[in-house]
Amino acid sequence: MMRARDFLSRLLGLVLVALLLAACAQAPKPRPVLSPEAKKEVQVQLEFAAESFYERLDRLNAVGYRLITANEPLCHQRGRVRKSLGLTADYFNKRDHKDWTPSLCKMWGVDENTIVVIGLIEGGPAAKAGVQRGDVIQAVSGRVYDLSGKRVLVTRQMDELAAKGPVTLKLLRAGNPVSVTIPTATDVCDSSFAVLMGDSVNAFADGKNVFASYGIMNLFPKDEDLAVVLGHELAHNILGHVRKDGNGKNVPSTPEKETDADAVGLYFAARAGFDITNAPSVWRRMAAQNPAHIRGGAVHPSSASRFVDLEAVKNEILQRQAAGLPLIPRPRVVPGE
Ligand SMILES: [Zn+2]
Repeated sequence: MMRARDFLSRLLGLVLVALLLAACAQAPKPRPVLSPEAKKEVQVQLEFAAESFYERLDRLNAVGYRLITANEPLCHQRGRVRKSLGLTADYFNKRDHKDWTPSLCKMWGVDENTIVVIGLIEGGPAAKAGVQRGDVIQAVSGRVYDLSGKRVLVTRQMDELAAKGPVTLKLLRAGNPVSVTIPTATDVCDSSFAVLMGDSVNAFADGKNVFASYGIMNLFPKDEDLAVVLGHELAHNILGHVRKDGNGKNVPSTPEKETDADAVGLYFAARAGFDITNAPSVWRRMAAQNPAHIRGGAVHPSSASRFVDLEAVKNEILQRQAAGLPLIPRPRVVPGE
């Protein structure tokens, strides 16, 4: 858990990073010959898989957005904030999505290289202004994106534009032109969230993004537990823990950084309004999943001490809440605190 991977950092911000990886990983292997019926079934199953991917992405973004909005004041102190429209947009083509492309286009009702709203935060700026999931984006404040070359990180570009003022979207909704102006964007911590396909129980941060696998999301079906995991990864990003060495490789984490990220991450979860009463038990379930980590290693503290330490942080937070004191993690996030 919590290891950034170099090759992923090149794919920053790509919501469909997992889809791409899955497609790339499969490419070199010879595939069995399928009957015509099975080939049709492949398309059906890819559609199921795509829908499942977006359900998971919605959940990740919903929990993540609560964390990055509620903790913006703390992130601000570290200079790690940005604007967000609360909208995720993407487009699909064979170059990037391989044989997923027909299923993705069918699911969203679009042609290749058509920008579509694939995610919307409930109550976020875009949703409040009237943007709907599935809207086709034709122009953003008069700009039309050229999608023929290198992948355009549409969501990020729109958020950057929103930092300069209101954003007007020229949309197509069920074929009809609609214009929506989003007056202001929300201030958030500078992190985005991405889903990794696969059962392995894994979450990590790369400085700008937080990645969570199907495996870890399945292990923690309650949002309050997922928030503990995501809070930890967000803390790595905000505390500046993710660093590259001279060769561009990620510098390994340390037990100290992990302990710091656990503490700050729990404050993040509590400040976002998640119930942290059972938060330390996340480490008991991680231990059951990963017995090798119970006693710890060079990089990661033992899951036993992580439980004990988190229990102490939890009690500190509950005491502060009971006393009406602000939830500010003591030494680390706010300079000089
Ligand atoms: Zn970590």
